[in-house]
Amino acid sequence: MSHAKAAGFVFPPHLAGLDRFEPGKPIAEVQRELGLRDVIKLASNENPLGPSPLAVDAAHAALAEAHRYPDPQATELRQALSRHLEVPVGQILAGNGSVEIIDLVARALLGPGDNAVISEQAFVRFRQIVAAHNHGARLVPMRDWTHDLPAMARAIDARTRLVFVANPNNPTGTWNRRSEVEALVSALPPGCLLVLDEAYFEYAEDADYPDGIELVRRGAPVLVTRTFSKVYGLGGLRAGYAVAAPEVLDAVLVIRESFGMNSVAQAAATAALGDSEHLRRSRELNRKEKPRLAEALGARGFTVLPSLTNFVTFDTGRSGRELFQKLLARGVIVRPLDPYGMASFLRVSVGTPRENDAFLGALDAVIHGPGT
Ligand code: PMP
Repeated sequence: MSHAKAAGFVFPPHLAGLDRFEPGKPIAEVQRELGLRDVIKLASNENPLGPSPLAVDAAHAALAEAHRYPDPQATELRQALSRHLEVPVGQILAGNGSVEIIDLVARALLGPGDNAVISEQAFVRFRQIVAAHNHGARLVPMRDWTHDLPAMARAIDARTRLVFVANPNNPTGTWNRRSEVEALVSALPPGCLLVLDEAYFEYAEDADYPDGIELVRRGAPVLVTRTFSKVYGLGGLRAGYAVAAPEVLDAVLVIRESFGMNSVAQAAATAALGDSEHLRRSRELNRKEKPRLAEALGARGFTVLPSLTNFVTFDTGRSGRELFQKLLARGVIVRPLDPYGMASFLRVSVGTPRENDAFLGALDAVIHGPGT
């Protein structure tokens, strides 16, 4: 009998069947469990170059003031973002990672009986957050592993308050074009907000890829989330932000924890935003290594999904979970996608050339090794 049962706790029934978010396995855990020294993590779409040195310096400096509570307005960061994005400070909200803001938006906008429209292989936190707050999700199948925006528009009903779209999407890497997103925005009924998750915005280089903030500038009912966890290399500090109409952000601020983003994260994120050289190098690496990785996987007979991100998702034609385990045994952490109902797929983040070579080497050894 579990302790909880012994103590007679009763939990709300809607929480009973919830699945937990399964993050990429931490390096230290794999080292401990498998007794390996050299472990390569390509499982959480982190920047393989690490954080900007300017961000690290700013974080150190902020630590000396750690006895002070953070600025709850994140004024410096929001002012820097305001200049960078060309939107008023009042339309920017800083959060503990962009996922905190997604959670707050779900709490602030969904009332009893309301629902959210989400596609089936969308970033899993959308579905999990909506379920955790006891709201319905209208799940829409993807088309060619891409959000089917016309079908999502058709799935909106009288109780839909939120539509979630990650563009580009994780774990598929696929994206929706400007015209498709604009058509979805036009189809939104009054009182329905499009949450556009642009965690991979800085990697998304395509002429038809839309900048969600342009939609916000035009007054469209859109909330854009972005993050310092990916290209800016600050996933460990938890720093993200949203851009939306002030009335939406005000509703979120009412329910937010008092201080929001911590002071070290605020300082590091502000400095990271100013390091255009680090951004340039990070994007350059991805521009070179992603196609190399995709081609190498294609050459091995795997079906590779098109990606506008810093990861590559591919169909292995066998159990992705088994392949993941075998790669793990060789010290390479990738991401199995069975939690997304993509049991034969794996997702691999774009690493440094050395990391990518190590991954491909391990993959070859696993594929050609005994018992496969
Ligand atoms: N959105 C998407 C689509 C993501 O892939 C991720 C990272 N896994 C996040 C949000 C998380 O961002 P953050 O670290 O800012 O919470």
